[in-house]
Amino acid sequence: MNYKNPDNNGYYGEFGGAFIPEMLYPNVKELQEQYLEIIESEDFQNEYQELLKNYVGRATPLYFSRNLSEKYQTNIYLKREDLNHTGAHKINNALGQALLAKKLGKHRIIAETGAGQHGVATATACALLGLECIVYMGEIDIQRQAPNVARMKMLGAKVVPATSGSKTLKDAVNEALRDWINHPTTTHYIIGSVVGPHPFPDLVARFQSVISKEIKEQLHEQIGRKNPDYVIACVGGGSNAAGTFYHFVNEPEVKIIAAEAGGLGVDSGKSAATTFLGTLGVLHGSQSLVMQTEDGQVIEPHSISAGLDYPGIGPMHANLFKEKRAEFFSINDDEALKSAFDLTKLDGIIPALESAHALAVLDKKKFEKDDVVVICLSGRGDKDMETYLSVLSTM
Ligand SMILES: *Cc1c(COP(=O)(O)O)cnc(C)c1O
Repeated sequence: MNYKNPDNNGYYGEFGGAFIPEMLYPNVKELQEQYLEIIESEDFQNEYQELLKNYVGRATPLYFSRNLSEKYQTNIYLKREDLNHTGAHKINNALGQALLAKKLGKHRIIAETGAGQHGVATATACALLGLECIVYMGEIDIQRQAPNVARMKMLGAKVVPATSGSKTLKDAVNEALRDWINHPTTTHYIIGSVVGPHPFPDLVARFQSVISKEIKEQLHEQIGRKNPDYVIACVGGGSNAAGTFYHFVNEPEVKIIAAEAGGLGVDSGKSAATTFLGTLGVLHGSQSLVMQTEDGQVIEPHSISAGLDYPGIGPMHANLFKEKRAEFFSINDDEALKSAFDLTKLDGIIPALESAHALAVLDKKKFEKDDVVVICLSGRGDKDMETYLSVLSTM
């Protein structure tokens, strides 16, 4: 089975597709027909690779952590996506899609954001490339994420509050879709994870696949082998995980581990562990596993990390889960916090709370002494200092 890319209709097994209102057909069809040709062209790749190198700061280091390796009695490498410009992996995709939009002749960019990380990455790419940028964000999220809202504004983006429903991410998605329907010819919608209608899951996975491409090269350079025994990443929608897994999913000797946000616990009613709690449904334009009631109402997810607080999961990951190609762990808030503090003290690296979920797998799974384990450190913890400080004050 090919786990890496969807079929021509955008399906990974039974997951994926494009479930969209008829008004969006022209936009989505245009993308479906053109994305591969454009992003694989030499012209595009030259420009994109040059920006990844000199603007984003790639390749990011693959760092062998002697201290973590000693603690867990195995060989642990961290892929340092936290060292990218803007502090996480999201810029790889935002920049790629902004360039794609330019090639498609679109000068207006819309995006939606929950925690504000994708909004900041998109606003950054738009500032760089001279594109108009409108970011939809739930009214409640705007209040919760003031520093990122300020960043977006300084970068020249217009932040538009979504005031309907629960005033959070899913309402912002609805507003963005409405905007796209109203501006089909001038506007490109930069989706921030491997979700949404085909071709977005594949498009975003391809832009993030630079992560596993570099891991292969760097492992080879450092220890003379291209494949680790394990790759581990956290999953919100699943874009850093898709990038980390991409060049390994079709190589059976590499074991794949995904960490979802368990919140207060899978059975607590306050969780975001979609593979444990989800059922087949349609969310944001594709068919996948969705946290929903029996009559199809989306259940509000909960996680201490805003970036994992999503009631769905990308179709590629739903397929990896169903086919048992990947092992899924549910990591609770307190377990992620502990791992964030552990890494900070052991290695002097303050990770994003999302990334700390991937690190927490080390406490759940026993690795052999000669295993090579690569963990994606998807982002840095600056944005989470308020949460970390509130824990410190209780210690
Ligand atoms: C947004 C975010 C995530 C979750 O998004 P994915 O699409 O699942 O990667 C993970 N880590 C960080 C640092 C993020 O900002």
